[in-house]
Amino acid sequence: MDFEFTNEQKMLQDTVRRFAEKEVAPLVEEMDREEKFVEDLWEKAKPTGMLGIGIPPEDGGTLSDYMSFGLMGQELAKVDAGVGVVFGAHALLCANNIARNATEEQKKKYLPLLAGGEKRGCMGLTEPGAGSDALSLKTRARREGDSYILNGTKTFISNAPDAEIALIYATTDPALGASGLCAFIVERGFPGYKVGKKLSKMGLRSSPTGEIIMEDCRVPVENLLGGVEGKGLKCMFSGLDIERFLWACTSIGIAEAAFSYALQYSKQREQFGQPIFNFQLIQDKLVTMLVEIEAAKLLTYKGLTCWDQGKFKEARMLAAQAKLYACEMTCRATAEAVHILGGYGFMKEYPVERYMRDAKVFPIGAGTSEVQKLIIANSLEIRT
Ligand SMILES: Cc1cc2nc3c(=O)[nH]c(=O)nc-3n(C[C@H](O)[C@H](O)[C@H](O)COP(=O)(O)OP(=O)(O)OC[C@H]3O[C@@H](n4cnc5c(N)ncnc54)[C@H](O)[C@@H]3O)c2cc1C
Repeated sequence: MDFEFTNEQKMLQDTVRRFAEKEVAPLVEEMDREEKFVEDLWEKAKPTGMLGIGIPPEDGGTLSDYMSFGLMGQELAKVDAGVGVVFGAHALLCANNIARNATEEQKKKYLPLLAGGEKRGCMGLTEPGAGSDALSLKTRARREGDSYILNGTKTFISNAPDAEIALIYATTDPALGASGLCAFIVERGFPGYKVGKKLSKMGLRSSPTGEIIMEDCRVPVENLLGGVEGKGLKCMFSGLDIERFLWACTSIGIAEAAFSYALQYSKQREQFGQPIFNFQLIQDKLVTMLVEIEAAKLLTYKGLTCWDQGKFKEARMLAAQAKLYACEMTCRATAEAVHILGGYGFMKEYPVERYMRDAKVFPIGAGTSEVQKLIIANSLEIRT
């Protein structure tokens, strides 16, 4: 398998890197301190094509392959993972899922709005009582004439406070189980759609997270994603697979930033008359970080390559493995970076404490590490 990036992928990496360093970096501290996303970044991202990266060119976007998506997440995360989540929740969780599953009419109506960033997207699956056990969701969709009436609450939704288009999962009948699951394209302006409270978080503070409350929310029948009831499970599973690769790449980006900061610091900081880098116990930490980052890259890039080659069964397993490994790895790496900086690592003045706070969410979102282990274990049961 060849992981040499194409010229297009290298160009995209370069564009995102320059955007992150020039536009995002100066705002990182302010966004973390004040727990807000600076809207100007959205405007500046529009001409870069990043917001349309989940949508094929024929529908107005810039999607070429999913490896590129991962590289975008990785580059943004080196500077601010929260900004990566804002763009990723819009471009992947919402827009890409619509692009892959919508009817032609739905594509025509919604994709141009999402591709250029005119409207911001989010995806609402999780509910207060349904997290890991997503299929137990309670949001109901009842058909009434030319509409579905949605009732339910979604929580922990990235971009919910600002999104104008939400991909919402609901069931037409809980007794039907997975086959009752549907996805709907819901506009913020639909009657009965309410943005609930914005949630305050320990990390990823530049990424607004919140609730969506639907009280007799009237959604036109033509907004049932794919136009057929019961397609929700397929939309959800394939969406989660790609989301897992994105968070694996984001985790790698955070770990790379933590590694490079800790390495540079260890060469400057002197104790016992020499740089702490000279101590083999410090080298041990740096070497472990480096090797684990490389291992996470290989696993994640292999999975993304399989996905891009259409080997979806293999890619699904690798998505769970990459998500598990990379997201746990970034927590270890960022904690070690804090440790290498000693007391300074614990201070807000240095970025490593933010990396550590940001990293902690990745073994939780899009299926916890335990859930990834269950998925991998299930594959062992059917393996002969
Ligand atoms: C910052 C952030 C952003 C998010 N963005 C979105 C979003 O945009 N859209 C969206 O729909 N959701 C989003 N989520 C929700 C996220 O996907 C859920 O938090 C996640 O799936 C876990 O669900 P939960 O929080 O309810 O935890 P729970 O499911 O209650 O899990 C609690 C603990 O129990 C463990 N556990 C559960 N079941 C098992 C089991 N069978 N075996 C062993 N252990 C188990 C879990 O691993 C975990 O450690 C976001 C979450 C966060 C924190």
